[in-house]
Amino acid sequence: MNNYKIPVYRPSLGELEKKNVLECLDSTWISSKGKFITEFERGFADYLGMDHAAAVCNGTVALHLALVALGIGSGDEVIVPTLTYIASVNAIAYTGATPVFVDSVAETWQISPADVKKKITSKTKAVIAVHLYGHPCEMDTLAAICKEHDLFLIEDCAEAIGSKYKNKYAGTFGDISTFSFFGNKTITTGEGGMVVTNDQTLYDRMVHFKGQGLAKHREYWHDVIGYNYRMTNICAAIGVAQLSKVEEIIAKKREIAKAYQNAFKGSSVTFHAETENTFHSYWMCSILVKNADERDEVRDVLKKAGVETRPLFYPAHTMPMYSGKYERHIVAEDLGWRGINLPSFPELTFEEITYITHLILNYYKNRETV
Ligand SMILES: *Cc1c(COP(=O)(O)O)cnc(C)c1O
Repeated sequence: MNNYKIPVYRPSLGELEKKNVLECLDSTWISSKGKFITEFERGFADYLGMDHAAAVCNGTVALHLALVALGIGSGDEVIVPTLTYIASVNAIAYTGATPVFVDSVAETWQISPADVKKKITSKTKAVIAVHLYGHPCEMDTLAAICKEHDLFLIEDCAEAIGSKYKNKYAGTFGDISTFSFFGNKTITTGEGGMVVTNDQTLYDRMVHFKGQGLAKHREYWHDVIGYNYRMTNICAAIGVAQLSKVEEIIAKKREIAKAYQNAFKGSSVTFHAETENTFHSYWMCSILVKNADERDEVRDVLKKAGVETRPLFYPAHTMPMYSGKYERHIVAEDLGWRGINLPSFPELTFEEITYITHLILNYYKNRETV
């Protein structure tokens, strides 16, 4: 628990979530079988206009399951942006494959297609496109690169439910797309995740691996080393309720983003805005301060005023377990040292946004006068 007056995130849970959870308890269907699982999976696939969705217990195993289903393992390379949440990278390492880092695009903060091209080798098997903070990646270019080089495309949509690229949902471009429903994600099930695909074989493989590798036609007979990556009916019960208001949640988040963006216009602060051809779902409203050495000061001003913030993700190639080979990724490092995530939850009020933006703008005003 923290004591911030305004936290970075707070899930919006209502009566429907409560009712559905109570229904699980009353019916005793609290484990990984039950009507809410299938309802959530079907509803999720339909929301995106995809053929198949399989619920899993978090977004990290969703990524691992996708890689396993695609047959990726030791000796393979998987291209991933260095500026991402650590799970996108760790999932690759779990399979024994090697994560190959690429830099970001300065304007969008997303994976750089030009750098992807440079990093492809004979060992490359897949590219993971992460729609960071809800801003979509350049999916046309990435899909074309993957097609040309015969690579699998995985979309990590943990932060991007409802985001769109050229009017098509994030999660509809790749061979497999993954989602997270952690407590601070746009929709939540507490802990939870989803894998989505249009490919029947990949879907069957994921269902097989997520359920202990159970053979289809023989009881208690397992024909691969599988995993228990199942979601519970209780989580799915919350998910069904959350999914029914996903558009409403995103609309609120976009209004919040607009208010932040307007407040920072003409200031020293750069807002992480929507770019051409994209629909940003604003999982996080984020800013860049001008100089890296201002970041801690700005965060400190906000902290003292009861406002929680987060630093942008630190580029993965700078973390001990992934820094064995010296690499530079100039854009990702610059963003990583200058970025701040601001409070971004749907119930954030305009008064609170004004309070936050005034604190930041005043910090710069005071700086100019000393
Ligand atoms: C949250 C997140 C994940 C992992 O999801 P969990 O449900 O926390 O395991 C993976 N990738 C990205 C980009 C995320 O933000």
